Order: sequence, then C-alpha cells, then structure tokens
Amino acid sequence: MSESRAGLDQARSAVLDTVPEGLFIGGEWRDAAGGGSFSVEDPATQETLTQVADGQADDAKAALDAAVDAGPAWAATPPRERGEILRRAWALMLEHSEDLALLMTLEMGKSVAESKAEVAYGAEFFRWFAEEAVRVEGRFARSPAGSERLLTMKQPVGPCLLITPWNFPLAMGTRKIGPAIAAGCTMVLKPAQLTPLTSLRLAQLLTEAGLPDGVLNVVPSSSAGKTVGPLMSDPRLRKMSFTGSTEVGQMLMEQASKNLLRVSMELGGNAPFLVFADADLDAAVDGAVIAKMRNNGESCVAANRFHVAAAVAEDFAGRLAERLGAMRVGHGAEDGVQVGPLINEEQRGKVEELVADAVDTGAKALTGGSRPDGRGYFYPPTVLAGVESEARILREEVFGPVAPVTTFESEEEAVAQANATEYGLVAYVYTSDLKRALRVVEGIETGMVGLNRGLVSNAAAPFGGVKHSGFGREGGTEGIDEYLSTKYVAIDM
Ligand code: ADP
Repeated sequence: MSESRAGLDQARSAVLDTVPEGLFIGGEWRDAAGGGSFSVEDPATQETLTQVADGQADDAKAALDAAVDAGPAWAATPPRERGEILRRAWALMLEHSEDLALLMTLEMGKSVAESKAEVAYGAEFFRWFAEEAVRVEGRFARSPAGSERLLTMKQPVGPCLLITPWNFPLAMGTRKIGPAIAAGCTMVLKPAQLTPLTSLRLAQLLTEAGLPDGVLNVVPSSSAGKTVGPLMSDPRLRKMSFTGSTEVGQMLMEQASKNLLRVSMELGGNAPFLVFADADLDAAVDGAVIAKMRNNGESCVAANRFHVAAAVAEDFAGRLAERLGAMRVGHGAEDGVQVGPLINEEQRGKVEELVADAVDTGAKALTGGSRPDGRGYFYPPTVLAGVESEARILREEVFGPVAPVTTFESEEEAVAQANATEYGLVAYVYTSDLKRALRVVEGIETGMVGLNRGLVSNAAAPFGGVKHSGFGREGGTEGIDEYLSTKYVAIDM
C-alpha cells in the first residue's frame, strides 16, 4: 500500500468516526423503526463507507411531531438569537472545513478542492441568513379612503419538509435550512439516499451551535416516497421545498396540491453557453471550464450545450478540448485530482448513452468519449464537436463532464437555440458588445444569466428558475420569503 493511500485510509476512518449514523429526531439520535439500515458507498472505489439508519414512515411522522412541538417556542425566539445560532454554525463549519470536505468527497466523489469550495459556499447561506433574520419587516399604511389603517406582518410559514439531492450534499441543505431557521420555522430534512452523511454531520454542528431540539430533524431513507410521502398529506405540514429532478418535482407538486402546501421547486436545467464572435475567447474558454466542470458537471447549473458563433467555433472547441483533456481524473481525495467519479453506474450509463447518440448523428470527440477500465464510476472530460441539432445531448440534462459544441450564424438564431428547451434555470453569455449583451440577457428565458462569467451561485443572490426548472428563489433577500407568510390586519379608525 502506498504511503498516500495509507494516509487517505487513516483520514477516511477518522472522518467517518465523526458522523452519527442514526436518525436525528427531537434532538436525539435514534435507530429507525424496525432497526433497518442502508449502506453508503464511495463512488470512486465502490466500497461501502458505512451504514446509516433507514428511516420509515413512522420515523418521518415522529420527526414531524418533533417539528410541530418545537414550532411555537422557536417562532417566539428573538430573531437575533436565531441569527446568532446560524452565525455560530457558519463559523463551526469553516472550522471543520477540512473534515466536512473530505466527508463530502467520500460520499459524493468530487475533488476535495471542490468540496472545500462547497463548504465555503454552503456555510455562507448561514452567515447570510443570520443577517437576514433581523430584517423581517412589515408595513403600516393609511388606506386610500383614510378610514382605516393597514398593518402587514410576516410570520413563519410553519413546519417544513426539505428534500435535497446528492450533488451538493451540504449547500442544497443549508440554503433551505438557513432561511427556515432565520424565519422561525421548524423542519424535517430528507437528504438524498446516496449522500446522507454530510447532512447528519451538519445536524451535529447546528446542535453544537445551540439549535434547540426539534427545530431541525433529519431522516435519511432508502425509500423516499414511502417515508416522506405520508407527511405531504399531514395537515400540520405547511411547506415543502424540493431540489431534484423535474419528474419527481412534478409528482411532489401533485401531492402538495391536496394539502395546499406552500412549495418551492428547484428542478432540472439545460443551460446554454453562448459565445458570440465578438467575445473575449480566452475569457470564454476559462468560463466554459468552470461552467462545465464544476462539480464534475453534475450540477443543475452546469453548461449543458455550447452554442458558438460559426466563425470562432473550431478555435473555441479546440481550446476547450485542450483544457478539459489536461484535467486530472482520480479519487477526489488524492492530491492534484480535479475530476472525480460520477455518482453511480446509472449516471455514467446515461452520460455514455448521450455521447453515443451524438456520435451516431455525426459528432466527433475531440477529447475523452469512452469510459476507462477499473473500479469507480469514472468518465473522462469530453468535448464533442459538430453536434447536430437533433442530438439528444442538446435537449437532455447531461449531468456529467461532457461538452457538446454546436454553431449559430446570427444573434436571433443563438437566442432561439438557447430558448429551445422546456428548462429555464440559467444561461451563460459571452460577448463584448454591451447592447448585444443586454438584448440577449433580456431575451433569454431563464431565472439566471452568467454574463461573461461561468459561475452564478452566490448566497447573496436569488437562485432559481422558470419553466420546467421550477419556481421559488434560494438565497438573496428573496430566499427568506419562501418561509414567511404575510398577514394583513385591517384596523378601524
Ligand atoms: P436526482 O436525479 O438528483 O437523484 P431525484 O429527484 O431523484 O433527483 O432526487 C432528489 C431527492 O428527492 C432525493 O432526496 C430523493 O430521495 C428524493 N425523492 C425521490 N423520489 C421521491 C418521492 N417519491 N418522494 C419524495 N422524495 C423523493
């Protein structure tokens, strides 16, 4: 065994020892009803990391019971106190940045450098919402006729169900938990089955920061629908926030309709990356590397398809291939690795299928294009040139390190291609012409745009989509509103 492998094994055991393996309900760690557990795997080695209690419907109900019991006292807690807990949790997360990052890399696969960036980004939601907690305000006005006074106030919406995906095991949780805590809501978190460990560790850190029992309850489960489904029709639940696939989001919307739950939906994407002939090509290639390769390409804001002005397309694709082809692939915890494995075989199979379809319809792989031998769900960074408009890869979410490049002749065609999708989360636009930039930004049907920039995520900004990418905003001054109800009081004078 090499020295670095032995060091990694030691660090891995140490960090796994810090993670509780139970359900977190009412401030206590407990076994699942029936005592079952499920295993969590390292996607780079396909080895089992540990076993986690497998939450059942009765556990989810107990978690909601705890959230409901804790609700009134938590809503009455001074906003400053709620904010201070978030602020302490932010500091604790940064203090434990190394461990949290390694834990995330182990269960999700991305490089430790990427995981550290996620710790900073994810923790920032706590600092941001610590500041927002004390800025929840109402209004007082005279009615137009002058005969009454209009008072409006904002109050916590009530117990929430938060469902998160595996691709950002920490940040997808903190951007729901942060505003919910700030607003005075209590909650049940159902993390993704593939990556529950980071959420369990986070619950521990929030407890250390002073979060009262029952405010946050965490129920991992291997059967999400059976476990949290019954909560959706429990009249005590008032809000559901979901990040995940559009298909599951649509199904949850249907379930939410019976109970008329407040709903936030952050769903799939199919981000276009537009490069105009007048763009700074060096900047466009730098931005493309980030927009495509951040998180191994497993992100709903990952650039999914590159539409490049015909005059510069060959140059752009060649340079992108050179950059992606030089990236180091391996176990995310090894020094110098930039690209880890995909999350599982299913995901890798889907990426392969999309590449095969594009190649069958005339595309050419400038780099990558086939899976390596050996263990782990690795897939190499890939650039496809000459992708035809009917290729599936331009319409479906890739969720992997593959960049299909296609061309356009005019601005109108570029915008039409960008909008030719049911999704509407984010678009990236590279141009040096200010008027064109504003025209294109206005014409694009997405909730977010990266203008001469390949990264949009920021806790201080409203993240979210339109069309089949969902609705509701996370982060920014908008983020807390998802957890507040407005009450209007009519006052006779
Ligand atoms: P992804 O493709 O990112 O795995 P999913 O939409 O399948 O996206 O999963 C996102 C989250 O939704 C995960 O936590 C998953 O367990 C949960 N989930 C999946 N199906 C259901 C369901 N029927 N009810 C509630 N949650 C679900």
